[in-house]
Amino acid sequence: MAFYCQEDSYATELSAEVVSCTPAQLHTDNGGGRKETLSGYNVTLTDTVLFPEGGGQPDDRGTIGETPVLRVTRRGPEAVHFVTSPLEPGARVLVKVDWQRRFDHMQQHSGQHLITAIADSLYGYKTTSWELSRGGRSTIELDAAAVSAQQAGAIEEEANRLIRRRVPVTVRIIGTDDPEFEQVRSRGLPDDHAGPVRIIDMEGVDANMCCGTHVANLSDLQAVKILGTEKGKKNKTNLLFMAGGRLLQYAGRSYGAQRSLTALLKSGPEQHSLLRDLAVLTARDFKTRPQRDKLFSLHRKEGDNEFMNIIANEIGTEVTVLFLTVGDEKASGLFLLAGPPTIVDHLGPQVCQILDGKGAGKAGRFQGKANKMSRRGEAETLLREVVSARGEE
Ligand SMILES: [Zn+2]
Repeated sequence: MAFYCQEDSYATELSAEVVSCTPAQLHTDNGGGRKETLSGYNVTLTDTVLFPEGGGQPDDRGTIGETPVLRVTRRGPEAVHFVTSPLEPGARVLVKVDWQRRFDHMQQHSGQHLITAIADSLYGYKTTSWELSRGGRSTIELDAAAVSAQQAGAIEEEANRLIRRRVPVTVRIIGTDDPEFEQVRSRGLPDDHAGPVRIIDMEGVDANMCCGTHVANLSDLQAVKILGTEKGKKNKTNLLFMAGGRLLQYAGRSYGAQRSLTALLKSGPEQHSLLRDLAVLTARDFKTRPQRDKLFSLHRKEGDNEFMNIIANEIGTEVTVLFLTVGDEKASGLFLLAGPPTIVDHLGPQVCQILDGKGAGKAGRFQGKANKMSRRGEAETLLREVVSARGEE
C-alpha cells in the first residue's frame, strides 16, 4: 500500500476519482487554545498526491478541484481528505498539493534522517523522537545526557559535507518474503505491521524505515543548521535544527529584526538585549515575592520605554499599580504609570503635573516625558497614599 505522493514525492498534481464523500466534522486548534469545529465532508479518492501525516511529518494542504483540503488523515490503507463542500462520488478530479508547504516538510524530514544518522555514526547517540515544527526550528531528541557545542558543530559540518556531495536518496520497498525483511523487523517494526515496508536509503549514509515524503538527493536540502541544544527529558538532549528554504527565511527575518531593534535603541544589539533581560528579571523577581506590595515603583537610569512596558506587561496591571521612570534622576526622563484604570486614569495627570511633564494615557496606562525627575519622590508618596487608602476599603 502506497499513495502516489509516496511513489513520487515530487508530483504536485494527480488526476483521480472520488470514491466516497460523507458528512464529517473537523476539530481544529488555532493555537493559543482556541478550538473550533468545522462542518464538512470526508472524501476518499482512488489515489492522492496529498500526504496524510506520518513518521513525524505533518499532513499536506492542497485542493481537490477548486475545493481546499483542510486536513488529510490516514484511516487504514486510505487517505481521508477533509473539505467544506461536497464532491460527487465517481467524479474525476484534479488533486493539487500546496508545494511550498510540502517541500519545506520534505527538507526538514530528510534533514532529520541525515542528522539522526550522523549523530549515531559519530557519537553513537540514538534518536528517540523528533518534532517538525511549523515555520520555526525543529527538534531531534537524542538519547544522550549532553551534547557539546563542538559535537553539534561536527554533526552540522558532516551534514553539509554530504549535501555538497549530492548523495542520492532512494525509496526501496521490501516484501515480507525478502531476506532483508527479518533484519528490518528486528530493527523495531511494530508487531501489528502487515505487508511490505518502505526504506528510505541515503546512499552509503543511512537506511531507515519511514512512510514520509523525502528529497531525491541530499543536494535538495540546500543546507542544514544546528541552531543549538537544550536539555530534554531525563538524560536526553534536544538538538534544534533547520534545513533548506526555511533557513534562508530565518536568516532574513533575523537580520531584519536585529536592524529594527538596533535602530530603536541606536546603541547596538548587546545593550538592548541586556535591558530586555533586566526588565523580565525585575518583573519575575517582584512576582516571586511572597508578600507583594500594591505599588511597584522603580527608577532605572539607563532604561527606555520598552524597558518600562516589558515590566508592566510581565507583572500585569489588574491588581498592581506600577510607577516606572527612566533617565537622569536630577533632570529629565520618561515615566509610565500603569494599573487598574480606576486609579491610573485619575492619578496619571496628577503625577504628570508633579513631574512637570507631558503625557497621555488610556485604559490604565499613562506615560510621557518628565522634566523634573527630581520630584519623583513626591509623586511616589502621592501614589503610595492613594494605593494604601484603596487597599483598606
Ligand atoms: Zn522519517
